[in-house]
Amino acid sequence: MSKWINDDGYYNIRINGRVMLEHRHIIEQKIGRELKEKERVHHINGDKLDNRPENLVILSNRRHTAYHNTGKLEPIWAFTTCLYCGKVIERRIKKMKERPHSFCNRECYRLGAHLAPGNNRKGIKKAKTSLGIKND
Ligand SMILES: [Zn+2]
Ligand SMILES: [Zn+2]
Repeated sequence: MSKWINDDGYYNIRINGRVMLEHRHIIEQKIGRELKEKERVHHINGDKLDNRPENLVILSNRRHTAYHNTGKLEPIWAFTTCLYCGKVIERRIKKMKERPHSFCNRECYRLGAHLAPGNNRKGIKKAKTSLGIKND
């Protein structure tokens, strides 16, 4: 695997002959699926070369452009997956910090509530880490 900085100032990587942006690859590993065309990866701290998973969030193209245009770099929405059915949903990051387990609707919540690690600190910490949310 080779890695270099491209003309836009991002890391490119080559895996099995295929060239891709490292931050997109890293977040794909994190969420376990390929990113869709309209999903953009945003560097939370503004450093394009800081590709630690916790520095990356997925935003829709529209929201991503809006954040950069307003100069507001702290994203408030991010994608996550429904704990029960795995559907990709958009949630407020603030809400995810309060309740790290996301469900896409009441039905999934009813069926999947038992999958949530409950109210024990360890379980919540683990769920937050998997979402890339800093534990405070
Ligand atoms: Zn961005
Ligand atoms: Zn669901």
